[in-house]
Amino acid sequence: MTGRSVVVLGGGVGGLVAANELRRRLDPRDRVVLVEREARHVLQPSLLWLMAGRRRREQIERPVRSLLARGVELVAAEVRAIDPLARQIETSAGVVSADALVVALGAELAPEAVAGYRDAALNFFSPDGAAACARALESFRGGRVVVAVSALPYKCPAAPYEAALLLDDELRRRGMRGASQVDLFTPEPQPMPVAGPVMGAAVVGLLEAKGIRFHPRSPIECFEPATAELVLADGTRAGYDLLAAVPPHRAPAAVRGSDLANEAGWIPVDRTTMQAAHERVYALGDVTTITLTNGKPLPKAGAFAHAQALVVAREIAGAFAGRSAPTGFDGVGFCWVETGAGRAAFAAGNFFAEPDPTLDLRQSARVWHAGKVLFERAWIGNSVERRLARAGLIAGGRLAGFRVTL
Ligand SMILES: Cc1cc2nc3c(=O)[nH]c(=O)nc-3n(C[C@H](O)[C@H](O)[C@H](O)COP(=O)(O)OP(=O)(O)OC[C@H]3O[C@@H](n4cnc5c(N)ncnc54)[C@H](O)[C@@H]3O)c2cc1C
Repeated sequence: MTGRSVVVLGGGVGGLVAANELRRRLDPRDRVVLVEREARHVLQPSLLWLMAGRRRREQIERPVRSLLARGVELVAAEVRAIDPLARQIETSAGVVSADALVVALGAELAPEAVAGYRDAALNFFSPDGAAACARALESFRGGRVVVAVSALPYKCPAAPYEAALLLDDELRRRGMRGASQVDLFTPEPQPMPVAGPVMGAAVVGLLEAKGIRFHPRSPIECFEPATAELVLADGTRAGYDLLAAVPPHRAPAAVRGSDLANEAGWIPVDRTTMQAAHERVYALGDVTTITLTNGKPLPKAGAFAHAQALVVAREIAGAFAGRSAPTGFDGVGFCWVETGAGRAAFAAGNFFAEPDPTLDLRQSARVWHAGKVLFERAWIGNSVERRLARAGLIAGGRLAGFRVTL
């Protein structure tokens, strides 16, 4: 038997996990190929620390190649077009064919989609924008700090709330909180609506405890850098001295232009197997769309991309071996909510629970912040640090009753 070829598109959280797990599970004669356009992988949860000036860029990124298991072939190229029927991919380095295809291209940031965003806002969802935010904080001498969600959907439902709490904390540390005001504007009716009213109220409580003014149901029409104002859909204007804003998101162009995408551009998948509409074509992570029983979409989060990548690797290994995979994606996920002062809250839950996701929120404490630092080291540290952090995280996770599979 000659070897088969699995091609993974995208070397972010989901793509890296999928490629490494496939390499571990498949016959050595089978090829695992990963196509990624960036030379370096950035750990996105750490962008919040970069934004607050608590990390330098080189501390939160690593060469993609260094995070791949031996035997995974890396194609450093841009994916230009995907033909899911033929399982053929056009890249800037030529055409690649696959016996099984995994699309893990994430969500693309589209700053130009809301007028004025590009000139007005610090985009803390990108490494350059987060670093620019840290520099802006250095010269900030007090005033109105605004965190804004410019459009829905966006990845990591907790990120704007963590950003506001971390900026508040940074102002306190620098002795400027008394001379400043922190506001958060979002089109959402509450923080993390998919997680239900209890979680929303808990996050609002965290904001209120720090005096952060929360403005839900505030869709943004445009930003006006000339007057340093944001304009809401109802015409209300709000001024700012420092504006950190979540940019609009969309599916990557290669996906939007393919038969894989729905009208909104995202890839619908079977929520258990992560299979797309075409045979032996899977998609995972932020590029997918999964509708929950309550009609809301599964959030775009690394924890889900990670778990789905393990499922996809098992599915493909099972399909190649002619047997079905034992377990599918179960909608279980967890997330930290950085609250500042070296603390974080922690939520874990089952998003496939019916009729609504069930979530357990642990109160803000130093131990959860330490868990997130450990996670960062487990993902992006040097190899010794990674092994130690993984062991600590898995042991800590078991004690706390959550699951960690790195
Ligand atoms: C500020 C911030 C904080 C976050 N915090 C958390 C958190 O605490 N917990 C959590 O679970 N999630 C968090 N997330 C979300 C998490 O990072 C994403 O959900 C996760 O990275 C999604 O994984 P993915 O593999 O689907 O996509 P990504 O990790 O985004 O990877 C997509 C990859 O595809 C590549 N790519 C895209 N288009 C092309 C192309 N045309 N050709 C070649 N390569 C291409 C990209 O370069 C990228 O490497 C956070 C995100 C941000 C921005």
